Amino acid sequence: MQTYISEMARSISPSPTLALDAKYKQMKKDGIPVVGFGAGEPDFDTPDNIKQAAIKAIENNVTKYTPASGTVELKKAICEKFKRDHGLEYGIENIVVSNGGKHSLTNVFMAICEEGDEVIIPAPFWVSYPEMVKMAGGVPKFLNTAEENNFKFSPEELEAAITSKTRALVLNTPSNPTGMVYSEEDLKKIAEIAVKHGIYVVMDEIYEQLVYEGQHKNIATFGEEIKNLTITVNGMAKAYAMTGWRIGFTASNAAVAKAMSNIQSHATSNPNSIAQAASVEALLGDQSSIGVMRKEYIKRRDYMVERINSIDGISCKKPNGAFYIFMNVKELLGTEHYGKVFNSAAELCDDILDRALVAMVPSEGFGIDGYVRLSYATSMENIKEGLDRIEKYIRHEY
Ligand code: GLU
Repeated sequence: MQTYISEMARSISPSPTLALDAKYKQMKKDGIPVVGFGAGEPDFDTPDNIKQAAIKAIENNVTKYTPASGTVELKKAICEKFKRDHGLEYGIENIVVSNGGKHSLTNVFMAICEEGDEVIIPAPFWVSYPEMVKMAGGVPKFLNTAEENNFKFSPEELEAAITSKTRALVLNTPSNPTGMVYSEEDLKKIAEIAVKHGIYVVMDEIYEQLVYEGQHKNIATFGEEIKNLTITVNGMAKAYAMTGWRIGFTASNAAVAKAMSNIQSHATSNPNSIAQAASVEALLGDQSSIGVMRKEYIKRRDYMVERINSIDGISCKKPNGAFYIFMNVKELLGTEHYGKVFNSAAELCDDILDRALVAMVPSEGFGIDGYVRLSYATSMENIKEGLDRIEKYIRHEY
């Protein structure tokens, strides 16, 4: 029998960040001394109060089905979080708890996209957005941005990208992979355009707690009309070092929330009951671990930015949030290294991994050429060693 795979599934490429992460973790397991700047995963442990809440949940037999879209306790904690951090009022009918930020985003596009609807995705973008839109039958429309504009689009560029088929704009701030943060003025203008054209803003604020200069704003704060069009996506992974627990959530108008909840009730049922109980503690308990992580990320970022800009052939802008450096490697492309000429960041990253044992994500998966993403969610010791190796590699000392 010939294996049949649907056209949609055939159009989906695997996640390059997760593929690299799996490769890096396997190399480590095999005893290869590789340094990883790959997947964005906090190197901190999940804080103890959260772990204890999970242990207690198991002991108390919180191990059964919960409502498909999450427990009332966790939804209330999420509402409280929106009030505390943004002054936004939501009720539990606006909240859907899912199996991670990715799952929330997939729910969103499934709930709002008709076949052929366009979703504007500013590039560089996080690798999974276009594939998620395609899985929902939508069409990703890329809005290219440039390094000299801090990888931000202007209101005019956004307006020009909107067509009669536009359903939504994806707004990821702080951004993965550039670390750029949209200002309050930027967001106000974007909100006006979204309201004028009646398009949704899918606001991915998974890195909201990791802002080092300026302030993160949620676009829904600019009035009832934009609040009604905003679907905020967030989760526990980055702020609370809970990547493996898989808890994401959305806040949206009640109709969108209901649609996503219906979809989820058939696709996955509830997210893990123990992880949900632990997430209540994460959101309402001691928040001091966030500040500790943030301080450490700032130290690492500052070291990396200075070091990278001191090495000939590579450069980077100073990111204001998240934990990524988006490094320009254009000078290294098209020139000879170790007897070979690399024409893409992907080829260069492969060679650096083979020769210098440093894992980094090339920018092609983020929708732009000539850059490499380095995550600084790794120890200072690894960062120093990794950058020493990159410098040695560029000097052709391997
Ligand atoms: N969001 C992180 C990253 O970009 C985790 C990996 C993933 O889910 O893509 O590295």
